[in-house]
Amino acid sequence: MDTWRNQYLEAIGIDVWVRRRPDSGSSRSPAPVAQAVSEPVSGDVAARWEALRTEVLGCTQCSLHKTRTQGVVGVGPQRADWMVIGEAPGADEDRKGEPFVGRAGQLLDAMLRAIGLDRRANVYIANVLKSRPPNNRDPKPEEVAACLPYLMRQIALLQPRVMLAVGRIAAQNLLSTDMSLSRLRGKVHHFGELNTPLIVTYHPAYLLRTPADKRKAWEDLKFARSVFLQLTDRVGADGDFS
Ligand code: URA
Repeated sequence: MDTWRNQYLEAIGIDVWVRRRPDSGSSRSPAPVAQAVSEPVSGDVAARWEALRTEVLGCTQCSLHKTRTQGVVGVGPQRADWMVIGEAPGADEDRKGEPFVGRAGQLLDAMLRAIGLDRRANVYIANVLKSRPPNNRDPKPEEVAACLPYLMRQIALLQPRVMLAVGRIAAQNLLSTDMSLSRLRGKVHHFGELNTPLIVTYHPAYLLRTPADKRKAWEDLKFARSVFLQLTDRVGADGDFS
């Protein structure tokens, strides 16, 4: 348990004090919470992902297409068990065409790594909006309405086993609620017809501004991981989870 906690806390910049134990093995990497996914999806599913990508890149449904550099579809294996959903691309994402690649993205990667997740191996990451709102303002309702069908298609294609909504905008739009983030945290919500478990946590950009809440985010990640392990009947299987 200490290994997980310390790696996460160190990565996100919370000081940790570790008792010296030469043979404790505390430097090992976190065990992956989900297997790396290397099998390809079927031809039909791959074609639908590709069609979705083409549509997003050419989308002109809302005025954001006039100011964006490019649409930002998503990143990760198309068979990932985990899906992380954020708000909208920022300047870095708009330039690179990949979600969460700026400072907030680096923090998100560290958080995910601490529970054994990696965007190149076992988690798919997408946003509510696929185009950058100018000056990183909040998405407008009409932009969300235009873009949400793309996210719904991504969820339907991926069929994740667990979803993690990072930040108020993602959580409220996925759950069709105006409840505050603090009230949405700490419980398992269910999304869509498949009743996919959905857990809510802070947006990494918020955590960069409010480091005091990083510990609460860590609680959320451990909670999400326990929900996943229960689903896959692996509760405590690695003896490393509190
Ligand atoms: N913030 C988000 O919500 N998504 C990104 O892709 C980058 C920053």
